[in-house]
Amino acid sequence: MAKLQNGNELIFRVAIAVPVYRLFDYLAPEQFESAHIKPGIRLEVPFGKAKKIAFLVECVQHSDVAIGKLKRVERILDEKPLLSTKDLALLHWASRYYHHPLGEVFSAAFPVALRQGKSVVIQAEKRYALTGAGKAIDSELLKRTPKQKSVLEKFQAHQHSLSEAELSAWNENWRTSVKQLVDRQLLQLAASSEFGASASESIIRNTALQCNPQQQAAITAVCDSLGQFGVFLLEGVTGSGKTEVYMQIIRTVLERGQQVLVLLPEITLTPQLEERFRQRFTVSIAISHSKLTDRQRACAWLTMQRGECSILLGTRSALFTPLKNPGLIILDEEHDASFKQQEGFRFSARDVAVVRGKLLNIPVLLGSATPALESLHNVDNKRYRLLHLPERAGNATAPVLQLLDIRNKRMQEGLSEALVAEMRLTLARNEQVLLFLNRRGFAPTLICHGCGWVARCRRCDANLVIHYDEGTLRCHHCGQEQRLIKHCPACKTGELTPLGLGTERVEKVLAELFAGKTIVRLDRDSTQRKGALENYLQQINQGSVDIILGTQMLAKGHHFPNVTLVAILDVDSGLFSIDFHAPEKLAQMIVQVSGRAGRAEKPGRVIMQTRQPEHPLLTTLIRQGYNSFAKTALAERKDASLPPFSYQALLRAHALDAEMPKLFLHAVAELAQEHSKGHTHILGPVAAPMARRAGLYRYQLLFQSSKRPELHALLNVLMPKIEKLKQAKKVRWSLDVDPVDLY
Ligand code: ADP
Ligand code: ZN
Ligand code: ZN
Repeated sequence: MAKLQNGNELIFRVAIAVPVYRLFDYLAPEQFESAHIKPGIRLEVPFGKAKKIAFLVECVQHSDVAIGKLKRVERILDEKPLLSTKDLALLHWASRYYHHPLGEVFSAAFPVALRQGKSVVIQAEKRYALTGAGKAIDSELLKRTPKQKSVLEKFQAHQHSLSEAELSAWNENWRTSVKQLVDRQLLQLAASSEFGASASESIIRNTALQCNPQQQAAITAVCDSLGQFGVFLLEGVTGSGKTEVYMQIIRTVLERGQQVLVLLPEITLTPQLEERFRQRFTVSIAISHSKLTDRQRACAWLTMQRGECSILLGTRSALFTPLKNPGLIILDEEHDASFKQQEGFRFSARDVAVVRGKLLNIPVLLGSATPALESLHNVDNKRYRLLHLPERAGNATAPVLQLLDIRNKRMQEGLSEALVAEMRLTLARNEQVLLFLNRRGFAPTLICHGCGWVARCRRCDANLVIHYDEGTLRCHHCGQEQRLIKHCPACKTGELTPLGLGTERVEKVLAELFAGKTIVRLDRDSTQRKGALENYLQQINQGSVDIILGTQMLAKGHHFPNVTLVAILDVDSGLFSIDFHAPEKLAQMIVQVSGRAGRAEKPGRVIMQTRQPEHPLLTTLIRQGYNSFAKTALAERKDASLPPFSYQALLRAHALDAEMPKLFLHAVAELAQEHSKGHTHILGPVAAPMARRAGLYRYQLLFQSSKRPELHALLNVLMPKIEKLKQAKKVRWSLDVDPVDLY
């Protein structure tokens, strides 16, 4: 029935994933079951010359477009919406709050396979398990086939079946070895009853730890509020047992027959947490992150939607996964910048999670050792409730932080003699050392000693980074690469010298200074191969590594029990950024890296090399801790009327043409002046801190207001007008609400 009783055509108003703000009207399909027509269902519609997937927003009787011009919906893909009414409301909210086209927001909520219109009948993944023989065999007997041996050991350590997705997440090249082990009758396809815990089975596999009183208080607070909305900030120093708290709360949620969504900042952290969860819980756990295939992600999404899985572990993009019986949302390392999407639909997974919790009427638990200033501010405002774990759990003690003044000290590739001596003492006790340097490559600059020529990227306002291992010069901003040159192209005679430090360079000097010791470098270059990071982490935990050197990759969550000395080689480079977020990020980084020291029985030390030993950020952090730092930093933000004491939105524009972005933003600024009632400051346009990147000229315009509603009211008026500006067609532009990175 396509026609209404009065003979009019019924019109489907739909959202389509294209970067425009409006919705689109279509005629109802020739044939349909009206009971199926609910907001949120997926449709296939003709769009330009192609077909696109659309999401039904509403059915209306009137369109502003003449009926004769409307095209017809071709196909209805879903019998009922895959998202609940509340989750649909969440998407509408997010589209309004981030001023982002609804179609793109919808699209972000669905896994790629479903976005492309694939059917929702997705075959369950295969799972594998040990046979009786596989359980009994000593893995050493497979030592001639190391790949099979390692797969077998993985299964033996788990003691339960593993899905294709879990195996892929662990090691991309599992298939051949698994097949060989099946042929040898050490592995078998797991019975499907293994998938998911049966009702009679208990939820818990291992007994929980005996919690300390602070942990217990946190658990009780959250458990008491299950079934209603509330935001909890679990502030616990690294190693204070936050994960244990999560697990005990999750247990209660599972016992209520509800599901839990757990979000993590990094893909690399999922395997460890997954492992701990699997050791604790017998229920089925779904995993979702960008390294999985489209099919695997769709599968995880649908099993949660149908209530076939109880726990979802995922990264930012998993936030919108529908839950049949939602019980709790946990965001671990809530301060982490990767919870903010930095392109396209630029949402903050933390902030949207809070709104989702409110709509679903369930608690949201945010955990961190170094909470974001916004979150602490929300505690001060009584919007979030603080749960505090001030001490390390078990017998571990907090590491001792110390500044090492390197002014006028002899340095060898970034290492002071005092630090080298400390490293030797640590290694002599058979303990591990971790060195942190947040710059990969050999050196960030190649300069001519004769004429001062510097190797610059042709497409960016940036220097090329030397990568000796590969013999290349590489731009870290656009990826451009060229052969490492030997002679200065400007004066032809001068000697080219590397300037500054990168991890590759430090690795080389470590190999000389600590001959015979095993050194592992962990950065984006050394861990590119899939499974490489996991292998390194395994080596480190087995104790076969003496010195670990790495970038921010090290700062996150990893547990290195035998590391007792941590050194931050160049803390000063973080002290002079122009972004007002920089001190917060630096303090978080220092505390997180420090948290890698002395996590087990042995006490840990942290040495920071600095030429700024009196710098207030460093001294506050060391003498009084992160919380005092945060209080000071919040006071400074307040004085300067910066977020969270004001609200910002950043409009970015770029183009090949040097002038166009500026002209466009000038036009926007003019419009904004016209419509702003004086409450919103319009700052700029100014060139972006990196004014040219990948050949594009970049400008930005900042809106700032002391009142959030004022800012959004202005943006509501502006966005449709901006779209229509004639310059808008000649630039790429995007709006970033609550930007965390002003670059
Ligand atoms: P976080 O997540 O805060 O870094 P974890 O939950 O990983 O901390 O705990 C750190 C270590 O302390 C782990 O090895 C964990 O098993 C142990 N632990 C946690 N809670 C307790 C407890 N109540 N008693 C003894 N050990 C504990
Ligand atoms: Zn030269
Ligand atoms: Zn470049």
